[in-house]
Amino acid sequence: MSTILPELDWAKGDGLLPAIVQDADTGIVLMQGYVNAEALAKTLESGQVTFFSRSKQRLWTKGETSGHVLSLVSLHTDCDQDSVLILARPNGPTCHRGCRSCFDPALDPTIAEFAALDQLIAERVRDRPEGSYTTKLLDAGVRRIAQKVGEEGVETALAGVAQDADALISEAADLVYHLTVLLQARERSLLDVALELRQRRLK
Ligand code: AMP
Ligand code: ZN
Ligand code: ZN
Ligand code: ZN
Repeated sequence: MSTILPELDWAKGDGLLPAIVQDADTGIVLMQGYVNAEALAKTLESGQVTFFSRSKQRLWTKGETSGHVLSLVSLHTDCDQDSVLILARPNGPTCHRGCRSCFDPALDPTIAEFAALDQLIAERVRDRPEGSYTTKLLDAGVRRIAQKVGEEGVETALAGVAQDADALISEAADLVYHLTVLLQARERSLLDVALELRQRRLK
């Protein structure tokens, strides 16, 4: 990893190259900044992502005042060594506006998991594979599915006021799953919900 420094084409960027920071666990693109050799050396040495701030005209360790540092996981360069990809773990929101990423949250790749769930349930509705819990639910009918949504909704609400936030995530996942089945049983989908949410956001 420390061999990256001499491999970069510093001359191309006049000593300053763009650096993209990606969340090492989720793949979310968190932010973009500029680095010089000194900033990269400091990043490697301290384990905290450090840029050269063009506005401050000095080394800038992300989080130096907010505490929302980016802990280095690995450093990479592109095909022609004129840009840097930094995989890191954020300790809080990376954007100074308080959001996870400086880019549009709609680009978050983990959101694609909802589309994958939507698709999977659509396949279950079409194929009704034997032994599948979703098939069992669908066979029980819309009233039963709606009842499960109600139950999971209450469980989610109860988990929301209890201490264990992990239980909240688990109950919320149960709720989203059963909600998706209900939507698909009524020939609707999470996509329709997403479109409704988008309309509301852009209103
Ligand atoms: P921080 O590095 O988080 O302590 O923030 C220090 C200052 O850097 C903030 O007041 C902002 O002006 C700027 N800043 C923080 N985060 C970002 C970011 N993701 N992109 C651009 N500027 C930022
Ligand atoms: Zn390049
Ligand atoms: Zn930002
Ligand atoms: Zn549950």
